[in-house]
Amino acid sequence: MQCVSTRGGSTATLTEAMTRGLAPDGGLYVVDPLPRTANFPPTGTLHQRSVDLLRPFFYGEALGGQLDPIVKAAFDFDAPTRWLDDRTGLLELFHGPTAAFKDFGARFLAECLTRISSRAMTVLVATSGDTGAAVASAFHRRDGVKVVVLYPDGRVSQRQAHTLGSFGENVTAYKVRGTFDDCQRMVKAAFASIALRNLGLTSANSISLGRLLPQVCYYAHASLAAQAALKQPVNFIVPTGNLGNGFACLLARKLGLPIGEVVLATNANRVLPDYLTSGDYRPRESIATLANAMDVGAPSNLERLRHLFTEPAHEVRSQWVDDEAIKRTIGSVYQSEGVALCPHTACGYEVLNRLRAAGDTRRWIVVATAHPAKFEEVVEPVIGRKLEVPAPLQALLDRPSEALPLEPEPGALVAALSRGPGAPRS
Ligand SMILES: *Cc1c(COP(=O)(O)O)cnc(C)c1O
Repeated sequence: MQCVSTRGGSTATLTEAMTRGLAPDGGLYVVDPLPRTANFPPTGTLHQRSVDLLRPFFYGEALGGQLDPIVKAAFDFDAPTRWLDDRTGLLELFHGPTAAFKDFGARFLAECLTRISSRAMTVLVATSGDTGAAVASAFHRRDGVKVVVLYPDGRVSQRQAHTLGSFGENVTAYKVRGTFDDCQRMVKAAFASIALRNLGLTSANSISLGRLLPQVCYYAHASLAAQAALKQPVNFIVPTGNLGNGFACLLARKLGLPIGEVVLATNANRVLPDYLTSGDYRPRESIATLANAMDVGAPSNLERLRHLFTEPAHEVRSQWVDDEAIKRTIGSVYQSEGVALCPHTACGYEVLNRLRAAGDTRRWIVVATAHPAKFEEVVEPVIGRKLEVPAPLQALLDRPSEALPLEPEPGALVAALSRGPGAPRS
């Protein structure tokens, strides 16, 4: 498929776009024009629907013939919709190895990149918590691959921090004395550094098309299943930070999947709702909230949204939720439904509560982006009991954990990488 940059000219095949990450002109790759998608049979598994959805995107690509084994290896867990009543569903995206939806994109990208290239590569990723673990897990113990993860020290949950440092071997975790935005700036500087050219640096951040496309798959699966059962399109509320997951939902609808309205729920980092109501885009420094994986002050995928739609405000709405409401929602949903939500999912559920309060009786699926046990410091005091930890996450928590400190300066990362990731500082 032809991919173009959101900033204009540069074109690439899908395979090239996946290896490059960012386009040479600094833009994000989008598939343009979009392919015609299949007529989906009414029944199907996540695997079948994913292959059907992605096949036209991989038409004529080197990886085209391997799509089936790629999807099989990447999605070796399910994405079930749990219906709380006949008009309220939770799309559970936390059944992968690191208990957050990032596993879908990271594992798919890892399967693709390791098949595209046999050369040594260093995967470099800045994370606000969940991305780093998903990417590290997806590339852990792969021959010829090193993974370097940067996260803001003290700004991720204890279990997120433990998980990030638990892999070892080909994975190095750096805890940066700064914010997520600092981590991203450092990663950008490393990519720009001539001194690091021979490392084969590869990005695995959410800007990669190789992470975005697999996220469309679970919207195809969930919406087709709901359509078969309800005979009408279903609506989605997506907890949103960098707008990767929310964009994937809008792309699924644009591709013709049976999706009605899409509402994006942010935390107190309210750049997106402000932009969609005022038309004025004002990126700002991110502020720390209880839903830390959504602490983004300049959502990068907004460029893709503006590329896909001339009038984004006509296509999607957004509302923001403060920490107080996050806690209240975790408590009230636990009381009424017996279901514990992670703080990100709670943002989505609070937006649903507001819609219901305003008289909306339609069928909505709230996207559950992480398992609540990953954020037990927030969730357990509110619901007043211990949460069970999913087995794959527990296995990581049982391992020892180590992260190396790093100053929030671009030079510090470039120096560390030139010594070789994980090498002791001399
Ligand atoms: C990354 C993440 C989000 C935000 O997703 P975006 O694609 O950045 O909008 C929401 N919830 C959880 C648990 C996450 O890890």
